[in-house]
Amino acid sequence: MTTEEKIAELEKIAKEVREFKGLDIAKNATNAVPGEGDPDAQIMFIGEGPGHNEDIQGRPFVGQAGKLLEKTLMSELGLTRDQVYITNIIKYRPPENRDPFPNEIEACREWLDRQIEVISPKIIVTLGRYSMAKFIPDVSISKVHGQARFVDFSGQRYIVFPMYHPAAALRAGAVMQQFIADFSKLKNLLGGNTTEVAKIEEKKVEPEQSSLF
Ligand code: URA
Repeated sequence: MTTEEKIAELEKIAKEVREFKGLDIAKNATNAVPGEGDPDAQIMFIGEGPGHNEDIQGRPFVGQAGKLLEKTLMSELGLTRDQVYITNIIKYRPPENRDPFPNEIEACREWLDRQIEVISPKIIVTLGRYSMAKFIPDVSISKVHGQARFVDFSGQRYIVFPMYHPAAALRAGAVMQQFIADFSKLKNLLGGNTTEVAKIEEKKVEPEQSSLF
């Protein structure tokens, strides 16, 4: 796909997201938040769902969590938010910022899958538990954050890098340290060094082997 074709397809998805009224959260939203960024981005960030500021502006990660994301992107990778793609699992703000419901995730799934396919990033960074669970189910974020792994998704192989949500980093100093340390690992991955990813795949096999004894 050329960049122009990608832009057109992403705009088509955004239009569908904005016109959809099949969920209460969609009907009640001030603005839908489809996602934004470089259509040719190497890194795609997937958060959970829009909060108050995102709902007002119709853009992802523009509140306090977004400021932290932007600041860390620059300090650790030297990138601006325009150089990556940023979106969410659900495209409308849930009331009181509650966790997304399964039917809401399901209703928004196809748009996210299409965004991933169009952008075709080298690395998918999941921010928080719900976006992690899309690619790596049944694990605890405290155990696997900062560990890249290969995930085959829709016929393509991506590097998935699970991270804590920046809002969680803002709430606790220890999580903030992890958040920044994890971010700095992305530099290596972006540079094409996948030795760490390979190690995780090997590690994944271990529990099965040991359960034989
Ligand atoms: N938190 C998210 O998960 N997504 C946003 O867009 C903003 C805050």
